[in-house]
Amino acid sequence: MARAVVYLVGAGPGDPGLITVKGIELLAKADVVIHDYLASERLLEHVRAGAEVVYVGKRGGQHTYRQEEINQLLLDKAALGGIVVRLKGGDPFVFGRGGEEAETLAAAGVAFEIVPGVTSAVACPAYAGIPLTHRAYASSAGFVTGHEDPTKPGSGLDWDKLSCGVGTLVFLMGVKNLDKICAKLIGGGRDPKTPVAVIEWGTTSHQKTTLGTLETIPEEAAKSRVAPPAVIVVGEVVSLRAGLNWFESRPLFAKNILVTRAREQASSFVEELEDRGASCLEFPTIEIVPPESWEPLDSAIGRLSAYDWVIFTSVNGVDYFLERLTACGEDIRALHGASICCIGPRTAERLERLMVRVDFVPDKFRAEGLVEELLARGVKGKRVLIPRAKEAREILPDKLREAGAQVDVVTAYRTLKPEAPRQALAALFERGGIHLITFTSSSTVKNFADIFGGRLPQMMKGVPVACIGPITADTAARVGLSCDIMPEDYTIPALVEAIVAYFNGKPA
Ligand code: SAH
Repeated sequence: MARAVVYLVGAGPGDPGLITVKGIELLAKADVVIHDYLASERLLEHVRAGAEVVYVGKRGGQHTYRQEEINQLLLDKAALGGIVVRLKGGDPFVFGRGGEEAETLAAAGVAFEIVPGVTSAVACPAYAGIPLTHRAYASSAGFVTGHEDPTKPGSGLDWDKLSCGVGTLVFLMGVKNLDKICAKLIGGGRDPKTPVAVIEWGTTSHQKTTLGTLETIPEEAAKSRVAPPAVIVVGEVVSLRAGLNWFESRPLFAKNILVTRAREQASSFVEELEDRGASCLEFPTIEIVPPESWEPLDSAIGRLSAYDWVIFTSVNGVDYFLERLTACGEDIRALHGASICCIGPRTAERLERLMVRVDFVPDKFRAEGLVEELLARGVKGKRVLIPRAKEAREILPDKLREAGAQVDVVTAYRTLKPEAPRQALAALFERGGIHLITFTSSSTVKNFADIFGGRLPQMMKGVPVACIGPITADTAARVGLSCDIMPEDYTIPALVEAIVAYFNGKPA
């Protein structure tokens, strides 16, 4: 293997969007990734399959790797050659001993590079609505370790100068010594009324900000059980938060939402919820798998020119249909003779992205509305192909047949119930750790109910339920769950807005 290069990469403060482009590129190229506690787990999604991932945070319970062990690990991995990424929370050269790791590499003659990151010292105040400098309040800012006990002799900090010599002070690793830090700053001449903010788990969905002054913050922090990791901001700029607190005031901030969906489909929904501040727990109740046999779909594809209409009822239907089309040696042109209908806008979008024009999307996105509108277009005597899930409802083909259409329903994929971590979820409900549960199809409701059985209504007592549409809500009612949130349009974006409207004004 090529000679090793070790990259000390800043992972950013927690929000996985706050890593650099260079950092992401290196994660995708790395042969080995060594990460720790404060680097977001989600970043590991960028690591290529087959790369080695080593976690040097908490090991086997409470024990952590000692710094010497991490340094040695870097040398050992470097000796094997290739690209080694040492992923560190925040910026690698702001506390967190990145300097020592680089020195180790330099001393051993190992090539290394530093990829700066967004440090928590800057990002946490930003996400708490606190500008570190401001023309009216502070013209300098300093990063200070709060790790050293300031009352012990030999402290590396000159508290008298620090107290009044810097506008805004940002302490890292300072939770344990908060009271001593405040006392030292007051002792050094800083006004006891100086505002202070303590920001826990900054830039994540668990961000929590506690406010006070140098005098009051130790007590406030104790009251609200402040715990590491946290950044302490001291200075007049903290008062600006009153008008600038954007992150924690997003409509779904601190809401834990359980998203029950097919794993393959969940991401856009989750993204939209998280953009509004929610923290989503994905609970796959459906797994999408190929049919037992491709034969029915393949033979329908073979007769494609005979159909007047092809009706797609889901994104998965489109995907599997197109996959088989290719496998059968055909392409999109094979659809030229048929009109195309999609049951919902997402399904239509999937085809339109492939430059396939969809002839018809009904106004109301469920089978009943579709049937009425199709009938109005005269399906009598027409040949219709519906590639869809094996377990789908029969209403659409039945109605079309009643109206005189010749309908072929072929299985393009199947939905299965996956093995799910049942106990953990039940415990989470019990602790009040879930603020909302969402269902985006009848089958997710059914599968979810199957997984939990008769205990379901009791387990979910008091937790609001959101359903994408009336059919899903009916299914929920049948398993004992009443639907609290339902959009007027049966789409994901409309569901997200309905959820926002529901929580609007409700406390976390
Ligand atoms: N190199 C890191 C700091 C490592 S020292 C950086 O640049 O951010 C670890 C300290 O960083 C913690 O004790 C805490 O004070 C701070 N910290 C890191 N991530 C944080 C977060 N998401 N929220 C609050 N503080 C954080």
